[in-house]
Amino acid sequence: MLLLAVMMALHGEVRQGDVIRVAGPGEKARMNGRTVRLFEQTDGSRLGLMAVPATEKPGEYTLQVMDGGGNVVRSESVVVKDARFRKQNVVIGKETAALAPSEEETRLVRAFLAAETERRYWAEPLKLPLPGCMISPYGVERLHNGKPTGNVHGGWDQRGAKGTAVRAVAAGVVRIAKMFELRGGTVGIDHGQGLETMYLHMSGFAVAEGAEVKQGDVVGYVGSTGRSTGPHLHWSVFANGVAVNPAQWVRVGACAAAPAGGKKKK
Ligand SMILES: [Zn+2]
Repeated sequence: MLLLAVMMALHGEVRQGDVIRVAGPGEKARMNGRTVRLFEQTDGSRLGLMAVPATEKPGEYTLQVMDGGGNVVRSESVVVKDARFRKQNVVIGKETAALAPSEEETRLVRAFLAAETERRYWAEPLKLPLPGCMISPYGVERLHNGKPTGNVHGGWDQRGAKGTAVRAVAAGVVRIAKMFELRGGTVGIDHGQGLETMYLHMSGFAVAEGAEVKQGDVVGYVGSTGRSTGPHLHWSVFANGVAVNPAQWVRVGACAAAPAGGKKKK
């Protein structure tokens, strides 16, 4: 990924689900009601991660960079293009569909996503949490048994047999390691300076809350806990609390589509 000024010059546009990397000088950036910090890097420069949500209306926006006093020091036009996310129906049982997060689950996830950590643990490139192919991409609008849910898929689903090790995509600090109602076995890692990842539906944990992890450390194991229809890993990348497209950070192959009415292949 490129810094904002370069990116705009080359492409002039971003897509829904992208992260715009905002370089200094400046201490904060603002776009369409969201404000993010530009954190100091080891070389003295500044960098902020401005997320474009999957549901952002395509069109032209203004990205403003502010100094410490809140004065706008730079202003750039950003064109958000339609990413043309697909719709996907999921067939699930009534009991599974009815699962809802507890107040505690909602509160803990919200607090995790709102946290701001000065230290940057993450470095690029990120690495996949497991080798399995992608079952379901980011941004698809979810229907349950044909009914729209109003939700878009906030991460990737990757294939994995029950018990497969799930690894941290980058270094960070484990802030959540809990068995939740909706998300099932969940690990949340704060990678610092606005980057976070979450791993859901796991059968168990390999880390405790507060643990510092390196890239590739095992954090848990694939399962089918919470609202899940079979063993797989759902994982998400968040930029300042907004779920963004992992495709901008790491690559994965899509699973081959199952032949309609055909037999299972090996
Ligand atoms: Zn998922």
